Amino acid sequence: RKGTAVITGASSGLGLATAKALAETGKWHVIMACRNFLKAEKAAKSVGMSKEDYTVMHLDLASLESVKQFVDNFRRTEQPLDVLVCNAAVYQPTAKEPSFTAEGFEISVGTNHLGHFLLSRLLLDDLKKSDYPSKRMIIVGSITGNTNTLAGNVPPKANLGDLRGLASGLNGQNSSMIDGGEFDGAKAYKDSKVCNMLTMQELHRRYHEETGVTFASLYPGCIATTGLFREHIPLFRLLFPPFQKYITKGYVSEEEAGKRLAQVSLQTPF
Ligand code: NDP
Repeated sequence: RKGTAVITGASSGLGLATAKALAETGKWHVIMACRNFLKAEKAAKSVGMSKEDYTVMHLDLASLESVKQFVDNFRRTEQPLDVLVCNAAVYQPTAKEPSFTAEGFEISVGTNHLGHFLLSRLLLDDLKKSDYPSKRMIIVGSITGNTNTLAGNVPPKANLGDLRGLASGLNGQNSSMIDGGEFDGAKAYKDSKVCNMLTMQELHRRYHEETGVTFASLYPGCIATTGLFREHIPLFRLLFPPFQKYITKGYVSEEEAGKRLAQVSLQTPF
């Protein structure tokens, strides 16, 4: 049989490039889990994916109810789940005020971490049942969340503190930041990526032996051209790609990053 891979946020950038790379192997059926159905369908067509290689299913990670509905819908298709790729993210570096998910959590951590946390937890049961020998759950991390890198040392640095903001609901009443501090959109993104990476480490520690699932996070390289930077100031958007290409040399194309993520997600297709 073909393997089944779920990829969140496959309607653009890295997620789309990964979906394409998987579909091109001819050995995978890709479930594109996206918040904008039409955009995802158009995106799949625009990169030449053929109809039988993918299905678009609605998933809005900024709503925990939508996450549950996605899991129900996926189960109704009665397909096995062999690989889960948690790729979607929002980044709001210039936001002056926090915005919130359907359940009222600050949107970067709410979408990137809490939405994926629930999705991972629910779909773990489905991955457990798969007979694929190399079942995996992969999340896209970022070096901006690691203070042992140059990019991770550009302020504001990621810092979860003692989690007091998270404990108090992350809803803006006490604080909308995990560490309880003042709202900062760039930091909220970095914090969410730290949570992503820690979640995979902890899932691996708790569940790898029992389930055979490999949990990992990866940094795909700096794909300076994706929509992730859509909310940044225009000057940043102009200078960031050449800066990454010629100065840090950390730039990778969407296509190359997609191939990397596909390689990490799948080792030995059926
Ligand atoms: P894009 O903005 O192109 O892609 C992000 C995707 O996430 C889009 O498909 C978007 O959907 C989706 N998304 C956003 N919010 C939601 C939501 N509420 N529910 C469902 N889907 C949602 O950025 P990238 O391709 O660059 O980002 C992909 C991943 O790579 C992210 O996890 C990012 O943190 C990570 N990354 C990126 C780097 C880079 O240099 N670009 C570097 C390191 C990590 P829609 O199309 O509807 O907007």
